[in-house]
Amino acid sequence: MSGDAGAAPAGAPPLDAVEIVTIGDELLLGFTIDTNAAHLARALGEAGIRVVRRTTCGDDAGEIAMAVRESIDRTGAVITTGGLGPTSDDNTKSGIAAIFGRAMRLDEGIWERLQEMWKGRGWPGQVPESNKLQAMIPDGATVLANRHGSAPGIWLEDERGRWVAMLPGVPREMKGMLADTLMPRILERAKRGGGAALVIRSRTVRTTAISESALHDLLADVRQSVHGLPLAFLPGWEGVDLRVTARGMPAAEADALLERAVLELRGRIGDPVYGEGADDLASVVIDALRARGWMVAVAESCTGGMLGMRITAVPGSSDVMLGGVIAYRNDVKVRDLNVPQPMLDAHGAVSEEVVRAMANGVRARTSAQVGVAITGVAGPGGGTPEKPVGTVWVCVETPAGAHATRVRTVGDRDEIRRRAAQGALNLVRRQLAR
Ligand code: ATP
Repeated sequence: MSGDAGAAPAGAPPLDAVEIVTIGDELLLGFTIDTNAAHLARALGEAGIRVVRRTTCGDDAGEIAMAVRESIDRTGAVITTGGLGPTSDDNTKSGIAAIFGRAMRLDEGIWERLQEMWKGRGWPGQVPESNKLQAMIPDGATVLANRHGSAPGIWLEDERGRWVAMLPGVPREMKGMLADTLMPRILERAKRGGGAALVIRSRTVRTTAISESALHDLLADVRQSVHGLPLAFLPGWEGVDLRVTARGMPAAEADALLERAVLELRGRIGDPVYGEGADDLASVVIDALRARGWMVAVAESCTGGMLGMRITAVPGSSDVMLGGVIAYRNDVKVRDLNVPQPMLDAHGAVSEEVVRAMANGVRARTSAQVGVAITGVAGPGGGTPEKPVGTVWVCVETPAGAHATRVRTVGDRDEIRRRAAQGALNLVRRQLAR
């Protein structure tokens, strides 16, 4: 029965609502954040499928079976994640099979594929017996191919069209399988209802270097809604994201309203908007540098390489990134960045004078067109009344001149350092926009 086209049994109800059951002790204990449920809910919502309930249970087979049984009784359409791998305390599949009154059997196709993968990776000996669990599937189940890992997904359905789709727990595999295999099948089911699907879609505008309260004031008359769409303020260390959401309308109408809302937000907020959706400020800066044909070099004190990490995390950043100096202690600032010792003695390492000298020094040293420097007090110790913890100076020097600014940062050491790197990137963005 593997690999069928996913047609529903005759008389099965049109797919409208789905429940999600995420499985794993680490989710219950709080050591892993349940990103799978969030991803599934968003993807299904965008396709107009309502997620009506999310349940999380541990690896206990009885608990899993109970949760899935209840979800099937309520909705008849359930997606689970986790509990499929060779390391799982794995009665997940058999527990769910029992709800449908099915026995377990070895799927030869999966077993062969596991053996090929084992050999292909050059691992010695035979596939461990524990891997055999991955090849066991309920009788009459459909295998959902997994191009992204070793544990395949499973689709199990009864004659009334009630179904459960079991996906792996590893988020990358789960996302890949949802897109490749499960979503097309679900959309096929959803079409059976006829008429245009009503979707839930969102767009996010990303801002930085502006406080949530300043945004509130700026958007005072549209705070509750933009063109009738609810607006959410989502502050984080990178800045404040603004998310507008269109619910319960046909896709074309949702897209048109969201476009108008985003234009309105961009127009009102102006400069602090650096991107949309998952845009990263480092990518935005890299694109701007690339457009000018400029190279950048970094000189970092309190961030210890975070700025370099942000830039080099973006694939293709070698087009614009030369390198840098982590000048954490003063002797390195003097030796490798030519910061004058008397300047350090007179103003201290966290000062406008020193950050300017650092940017100038790294630019001279590397021949980059753009030198970026950061120096600050990340805490928890080291603050003084004049320079409290969170005092951070950043400087950008380009062929057009140097610009230094004090970044306002709050939070713990980690947050201060992240905000400092973000502030430096933002200063580069602003200087390149001139
Ligand atoms: P395997 O046993 O082969 O690792 P599995 O399908 O049984 O795979 P789990 O063991 O439950 O899945 O989880 C595998 C990995 O995926 C773990 O690192 C876990 O933290 C992560 N993970 C599992 N479920 C979720 C979830 N709902 N959200 C985010 N991460 C998850």
